[in-house]
Amino acid sequence: MPKVLISGASIAGPALAYWLLEAGYEVTIVERAPEPRPGGQAIDIRGPALDVIAAMGLGERVPALRTRMKGMTVLDIAGNEIERTTERTATGGRFDSGDIEIFRDDLAALLREVCGSRPRYLYGDSLTALETRPDGVVASFSRHPTEVFDLVLGADGLHSKVRQLAFGDEEPFLRPLGVAFAIWASPNLLDLQDWQLSFRDETAGYAIYPTRDNRELRVNIGFALTLDEERGLDLAARKALIRERAAAIGGPVPRVLETLEATEDLYFGALAQVRMPSWCKGRIALVGDAGYCPSPFTGQGTSLALIGAFVLARELARGGADHETAFAQYETRMRPFVKANQDLLFRDRAAPDADDVFNEAKMGISLEDLLG
Ligand SMILES: Cc1cc2nc3c(=O)[nH]c(=O)nc-3n(C[C@H](O)[C@H](O)[C@H](O)COP(=O)(O)OP(=O)(O)OC[C@H]3O[C@@H](n4cnc5c(N)ncnc54)[C@H](O)[C@@H]3O)c2cc1C
Repeated sequence: MPKVLISGASIAGPALAYWLLEAGYEVTIVERAPEPRPGGQAIDIRGPALDVIAAMGLGERVPALRTRMKGMTVLDIAGNEIERTTERTATGGRFDSGDIEIFRDDLAALLREVCGSRPRYLYGDSLTALETRPDGVVASFSRHPTEVFDLVLGADGLHSKVRQLAFGDEEPFLRPLGVAFAIWASPNLLDLQDWQLSFRDETAGYAIYPTRDNRELRVNIGFALTLDEERGLDLAARKALIRERAAAIGGPVPRVLETLEATEDLYFGALAQVRMPSWCKGRIALVGDAGYCPSPFTGQGTSLALIGAFVLARELARGGADHETAFAQYETRMRPFVKANQDLLFRDRAAPDADDVFNEAKMGISLEDLLG
């Protein structure tokens, strides 16, 4: 039974684990956080990712947890309404489409649930070194003893440790966007009922929505920040920075900022795309944001992670012991789809053909096409 280590237990990691377990692999997942991480905004599942979810037996449970947003009000910096829509979502989908919008932590919990007790989890740990030998990869950890695996798969997000250990410094692979997101949960002190508020200008923006039957809000504030400025900030410094960068924004922001102090589960990070000439090296491969983060602005990170995990696991199952061919097929099949979705970021959303390009990139391929 091939023995696989997956780094990262958010979306790509458990999805990949599920498919590898189904194919008979022995799976260990190492996750830096001490326990499953809560938090995150609503994320979208679209196109072939909906088929992946259905194939996992989650075709009813995921839609049951979808957000029930009925529409969105777009405000100006002072909080005055400039648009009200029941059609277009902030990431370019439609409120009435077959897309599923679900909170990241709800989806992550379902993915862990379908894996059941089969994977071995190493929470609160991280890889420190990877040494590839002809017959396996020697993995060293901060806390767990060194162990040899047949394959190591990095599903550890934008600042992937596996990428750093196998491919070197992250800098050449990141295309920084100069913007950070700060996301946290608060009580629904705005009394929003299935309705989202959003604002965006050249330097800042926010999306605020209700969840948990309108009892809770998820607050997402975006502002200018470089990757260098982000490094080394502790929780208190992050909170101070958020307050400073959001100080000029009016409307609902001053009220929700009051809840920032008490929050422990702050998701905070400068955004970037990940563009790599190859996602695989020897016995090591990357999946999801670790290999090809498209950035939250495309709304496609979760779908790419789900689809990438499925395609990679299928190719490994097909290839048996021949991981080299499986990795090569994974790259060939995923690359055009990944590129089309990453390129969405640089599209002019006001262009006359923008909606067609957007939908073609997201939906214009089937799982059959991706599996060849
Ligand atoms: C807490 C959280 C909140 C998020 N909120 C949003 C959001 O609101 N909007 C949005 O668009 N995207 C959000 N994302 C990112 C979104 O989940 C991904 O873009 C997308 O779903 C692809 O998932 P992924 O599994 O590839 O990467 P991620 O979801 O980023 O998961 C990476 C996982 O790897 C773990 N990890 C990191 N470093 C190590 C290490 N050294 N060793 C072991 N494990 C490690 C992380 O803790 C995390 O669990 C969030 C991610 C997290 C973890």
